[in-house]
Amino acid sequence: MAEKKATIRFYEELNDFLAADRRKKELEIYFYNNPSVKDVIESFGVPHTEVDLILVNGISAAFKDRIKHGDRISVYPKFESLDISSLSKLKDRPLRQTRFVLDVHLGKLARYLRLCGFDTLYDNRYEDHTIVEMSGQQNRIILTRDIGILKYSTVQHGYWLRSDNPGQQLREVIQRFDLKDQIRLFSRCMECNGTIEQVDKQQVAPFLLEGTKKYYDRFYRCRQCGKVYWEGSHYQQMVQQIRQLLYEINRGT
Ligand SMILES: [Zn+2]
Repeated sequence: MAEKKATIRFYEELNDFLAADRRKKELEIYFYNNPSVKDVIESFGVPHTEVDLILVNGISAAFKDRIKHGDRISVYPKFESLDISSLSKLKDRPLRQTRFVLDVHLGKLARYLRLCGFDTLYDNRYEDHTIVEMSGQQNRIILTRDIGILKYSTVQHGYWLRSDNPGQQLREVIQRFDLKDQIRLFSRCMECNGTIEQVDKQQVAPFLLEGTKKYYDRFYRCRQCGKVYWEGSHYQQMVQQIRQLLYEINRGT
């Protein structure tokens, strides 16, 4: 059987997954049978969940499509500003509501996301296959620092975090999924992901320290675990961080 050849090029941040000498240029691939587009892309170490649009010879292609001799493949990540939903064939089920499930190393990010009001499942006892199952059953985006999880073929929505720093990770997630306008501070419990509601001071007074009772009047309680929140100095600091982050995102820095 004759060897066949095609070319592939990865765009924008998909290059993060490639070795330095393979970035931002056309790469040649050689094959005998006709591999699927998905297999070819993943052979370069790029998880399919990072890909939002594939063009083969200028026409939108699906992951299962087969590569032929002479094909030119262009692979694009999630577009930030351009709506390609009418073009792309990739995602079976669009997400209506942005929800997450996090891998076991992302406890701090989980708290940040919950602080911002995003439905975020996290438990440091989750195993990879559990995370993948929850993602599929509940239509949740997997956030991870472990590319391996995103290579399960059943994963539809996932994102590989570039940074190790929780503040940076939050920024990545907000930008990547365009969540700036969906942030709702104080709507979700940082401990358990339950929703929280405002409660009368009288109702929670017996559980409060004297100082807290004296200086604060607005209180919130988690409907699920009962944890009581108030706008103390720790909260103020976190809110300040989120404001700063949004300011920087808006400025494009
Ligand atoms: Zn709670």
